[in-house]
Amino acid sequence: MSSDAIDRRAMLAGTTALTAAALLPKRAGAQAASSTLPSRGEFVIRGARVLSMDSAIGDFDSGEVHVRDGAIVAVGATVNAPGAQAIDGKGMICMPGFVDTHWHHWTTFLRSVMRADDPKKTYFPVTFALGLHYTPEDSYRAVRLGLAEALSAGVTTTHNWAHNVRSPAHADAEVRAMRDSGLRGRFAYGPALGMPNDQPMNMADIARMKKDIGADPMLTLGICSRNVDGNTGGTRGAIDAAMARKEWTAARDLGLPITLHTSGTGAVKLLNDAGLLGPDLQLVHPLNTAPEDWATLAKHGVHYSTSPLGEAGRGGEMQFIEMMQAGVLMSMSIDNVTAERCDCFACMHMLQTINKHRTGGKFKLTTKKLVEMATIDGARDLGFDKVTGSLTPGKRADLILVRTNAPNMGDIGDAYDALVQLAQPTDVELVMVDGRILHRNRRFTALDYNKLLADAAQSLDALKTKAKWS
Ligand SMILES: [Zn+2]
Repeated sequence: MSSDAIDRRAMLAGTTALTAAALLPKRAGAQAASSTLPSRGEFVIRGARVLSMDSAIGDFDSGEVHVRDGAIVAVGATVNAPGAQAIDGKGMICMPGFVDTHWHHWTTFLRSVMRADDPKKTYFPVTFALGLHYTPEDSYRAVRLGLAEALSAGVTTTHNWAHNVRSPAHADAEVRAMRDSGLRGRFAYGPALGMPNDQPMNMADIARMKKDIGADPMLTLGICSRNVDGNTGGTRGAIDAAMARKEWTAARDLGLPITLHTSGTGAVKLLNDAGLLGPDLQLVHPLNTAPEDWATLAKHGVHYSTSPLGEAGRGGEMQFIEMMQAGVLMSMSIDNVTAERCDCFACMHMLQTINKHRTGGKFKLTTKKLVEMATIDGARDLGFDKVTGSLTPGKRADLILVRTNAPNMGDIGDAYDALVQLAQPTDVELVMVDGRILHRNRRFTALDYNKLLADAAQSLDALKTKAKWS
């Protein structure tokens, strides 16, 4: 969640059956996951309504998908897959897993102390007060809990927007949590909550992290910047153009992409004037941009991530329509699961609703385009489109099965309409990431969720004590 428009003073005033475990194969230079994940096998999904999200392949009312050793081998009406373990896809939609493009996983277990109707206990005061006291283990546990929810809801790729990296050990803990969870993702290495605005991020440690993640086929690295809007009162820090140039140049010298919250005003102009826009930049929360910004963003190839469930309750118009009309690549994000929930179906539905509300449906936003935003466009945003985001032979097998026979979905017509208008996370029947089935029949295949919950509760108790939170 962005801190852009939040003034620190205001905040303070408000006081404000496939569980055979096999260790991941070791790869040179990369850390193997310390937990066990299900092995990659050979599967063929049969009889599903297949939405490939690849225009060259198309969709199938009854199709088959063959997966072997983590890769998609074939997609078609029928495929030849002798010896593969069959998965019955009848009554299911088979599609790529969702790609989240901005999520503060470190905040996850703080939800239990939040209250939506108490300004002292909403997202910003809670995350700020307790976030200052995080140990690396707290970071690990919170990220594990967030990634568990992601998996259960059909998210196979996430952008871990880590804007509370309090030390190199905290960064390592968050990356370890991502590896142990088995999802694909980008780790966006950020500042420590509360650090002075004139103190640069730890670029030396980011360079160290690049060497580690560089050899990991599941993860990539980027940075998340503090706000760059000329307003130094932001809850999570706000830097000027000179500091942004310093940090961003260092990141770009390492070949790392950059992400930034921009829900306030003026950021795009400031960045453009400073010559800092580029195709390696993802902005988050298109709420208060100016009309002259839209073409500028498209010209520089900047991407934008919209977080529908949170943005719908914030100041400013949700400007994904303007961005799309200008040709800016738009993706979709969860933001956090403390004040919102991980529900990609609801996110798509919200965008559809907002479009109708704002334009009366004059802007043509199809349900298929919304599913593209939540899958292949997200992969493009994060630079993962060569490996995920569509059911394309040769790509990695990141896919989900969505059951269509629950009471909310029974007797569906168009599959895209059903996904946007009717489906909910509990309809997700199977989640496969990189050929591993990590969630099936509403259960984790290799993850002890009760342990994650108990660990999170222990961390939260300690944090509340340290922060004198009541
Ligand atoms: Zn955010």
